[in-house]
Amino acid sequence: MRISYATESAPGHVNEDYALCGNDWAAVLDGATAFPGVESGCVHDVPWLVRHLASGVSRRMLLDSMPLPDVLAAAIEETREAHGPACDLANPDSPSSTISIVRVCGGTAEYLTLADSPIVVRGHDQALTPVIDDRLAHLPGGRPYSRKLVRSLRNQPGGFWVASTSTEAAYRAITGSVPFEPGSEIGIFTDGASRLVEFYGYEWEHVFSVMETGGPGALLRLVRSAENEKPLGDAKQHDDATAVFMTGCGAARPDQGIMQRPANWRDLVGM
Ligand SMILES: [Zn+2]
Repeated sequence: MRISYATESAPGHVNEDYALCGNDWAAVLDGATAFPGVESGCVHDVPWLVRHLASGVSRRMLLDSMPLPDVLAAAIEETREAHGPACDLANPDSPSSTISIVRVCGGTAEYLTLADSPIVVRGHDQALTPVIDDRLAHLPGGRPYSRKLVRSLRNQPGGFWVASTSTEAAYRAITGSVPFEPGSEIGIFTDGASRLVEFYGYEWEHVFSVMETGGPGALLRLVRSAENEKPLGDAKQHDDATAVFMTGCGAARPDQGIMQRPANWRDLVGM
């Protein structure tokens, strides 16, 4: 197993993304930038929240073998306690973050993704499977969303879920598992990196090709290059950007050959 990553703030800003990796797991977080003038009820900033969630996840990934939703729920609960009495944890604008986690064990990769930080699996047979939580893109009534609508549907059934003050969000994440063998690859991205596909028209094949040859750092350079060449109209020109690249190494087991997907593959990845 090889894991590499790169993370970079938008030029001139504090990085609200975070990447963390162990020997056989990796996670990516993307803190939600607060709207100007919004009262969050919290004395902490977004990087504080992201660091606390990352710390809680990291410790459990290292020391426990609990299911990924339990890992995240424990990290959220621990972060709730760290806020302290000065913070109103019932405020729906409390700082929040996306989180995506992948853990590889015995030829299988388990994943959890909550909010917009895509996980993309490239199987042994080169087939690409994006696992994307796009519930924020499909709120009732369609875009443009009012701030009031987003506020009312955050961490609510029928709305969208983020890592903030609700442990229930951990159990509303998209989870599953896929085969992960020598030759398989997984990318985990914040939307500052996946915008290459979502906004600039690149194919996931190209993204993986860039990471194979130049690593995640080369991918982020390509993102900045695209942003400089063709600024996006409504979206911010630059965003914090993070990419993790996980590669299965070693020889395939002799009896394996070309891996067959299980019959319930599409169910596992929510397709
Ligand atoms: Zn707080």
